Amino acid sequence: MSPALLRSTRTLILDMDGVLFRLNTPIEGAVQFLTHLQESDCRFLLVTNNSTLTPAQYVDKLSQMGITIDGARILTSGEATAMYLARLAPPGTRVFVIGENGIRAALEKRGFILAEDSNVSYVVCGLDRQVTYDRLTTACLAIRAGARFIATNPDKTLPTERGLIPGARAIFTAIQVATDTVPVVVGKPEPAMLEMALQTLGVGAEHTAIVGDSLETDIVGGRRLGLGTILVMSGVTSAEQLERSSIQPDLVYKDIASLHADWVKAKRPAAHRKGA
Ligand SMILES: [Mg+2]
Repeated sequence: MSPALLRSTRTLILDMDGVLFRLNTPIEGAVQFLTHLQESDCRFLLVTNNSTLTPAQYVDKLSQMGITIDGARILTSGEATAMYLARLAPPGTRVFVIGENGIRAALEKRGFILAEDSNVSYVVCGLDRQVTYDRLTTACLAIRAGARFIATNPDKTLPTERGLIPGARAIFTAIQVATDTVPVVVGKPEPAMLEMALQTLGVGAEHTAIVGDSLETDIVGGRRLGLGTILVMSGVTSAEQLERSSIQPDLVYKDIASLHADWVKAKRPAAHRKGA
């Protein structure tokens, strides 16, 4: 018997890193499941807390793994942050950015001026692997002078071949401590990006589920919005961590391939499902 949650789910929000791929290696079953979703009438969106790449760069990255996807199906925290800011401020607003190509391109696309001084209305901080003390100083001076503080995502670390390296939170916390100012965070588990995902899909939380590998971001974020929550064990969460955690998803799968198998069973007409 397939789980009731899968039978009632019509829309999926899928995290990417740890679900579809690890670094640059596709996870088994990812190509097949995305192909299946695109061929069926299931609405879906790929979301990521990573603000360093643009949707077009993700299209390229996925294509190198054999996954063909339209850029309109990808929502990054960089895009979500620029969309969030566009609701607060008109084009031409000066913004100081600590961040890489993804967030910078998203803000420029919406007409924001990426200033290099502290005379700005907003400071936006994401992961920036070239950050300097000088740039942290400009950000702090801007916030102390009244600029509002926005962060793309709250990830403490980033998995790489070398191990876990400092994530966006490690950078924005330095600014937070030096300014006594807590940023508005757009990415998961905060609601802003996931709410934008629902708006982009044109659906509400009902009949929508999130698939992710992180209890703290994907599952907590999904819970807060009332989404169904599906954890895959192909990323950052170990079986021990899941067992000990107070955060428990609705469904747990080894990987996207085993979710795919159950998903297909759940979507079969009822007459064919008996005894399945
Ligand atoms: Mg992930």
